[in-house]
Amino acid sequence: MRFTCLGSGSGGNALVVECDRTRVMMDCGFGIGETTERLERVGLGPSDLAGIVVTHEHGDHLGGVAAFAAKHSIPVHLTRGTSQWLPEDFPAALVRLVDSHNPFVVQDIRIEPFPVPHDAREPVQYVFGDGSVRLGVVTDLGCPTHHVVEKLSRCHALVIECNHDLDLLWNGSYPFSLKQRVAGRFGHLDNRSAAALVRELECSQLRHIIAAHLSLQNNTPALAVAALAEALGCEESWVGVATQHDGFAWRDV
Ligand SMILES: [Zn+2]
Ligand SMILES: [Zn+2]
Repeated sequence: MRFTCLGSGSGGNALVVECDRTRVMMDCGFGIGETTERLERVGLGPSDLAGIVVTHEHGDHLGGVAAFAAKHSIPVHLTRGTSQWLPEDFPAALVRLVDSHNPFVVQDIRIEPFPVPHDAREPVQYVFGDGSVRLGVVTDLGCPTHHVVEKLSRCHALVIECNHDLDLLWNGSYPFSLKQRVAGRFGHLDNRSAAALVRELECSQLRHIIAAHLSLQNNTPALAVAALAEALGCEESWVGVATQHDGFAWRDV
């Protein structure tokens, strides 16, 4: 298995997982042209994708899905709650409904959805597996739950939200109501909460950890990396960062 990120943050998200000859994109918050360009950067074209799995309806995740999937006839996997946000003219034949507690397969990739607290209709995040290794991805997480800890334990690679530093958020320029939303239990995970979550996980097989969905205003890569490195007791150079502009390059699990 290998995986790459096309971009991560409130300006748009997309990640690609590859197992053998199957590739699945998780979320697409970019327009058609930009998604195509970002795929080309990692050596792929639209026809390489066997499906798109969607976490929730916020524009940075669902915003580019319908147009891209319809143009290239790519099946879209999403919960019933999230599906209500697809445009009315989206082809029903491309919709694959996800039960938030039931694993499913897309060709060579086993995909385990799990529900998360976030201010969306029926949000999920995903663990991807090929039968031997597992990649857990969680962004847009208001707060960790026991179920999240269970799903992300025993992963070989983790992409985990480090949205903000609480001091930068509260001292920053966001309106008070937005600060409350971001920091709330249905908002986004801050660096310290991400570190606390990592400490709860069974991480003995972990080979990759990447901080994702960083706020450009309320966080810095250095703060996010330091928090995760301290939680794992590892070198900071071992912790990756998914950036808004570049995401991150392919990583073999
Ligand atoms: Zn988001
Ligand atoms: Zn969201």
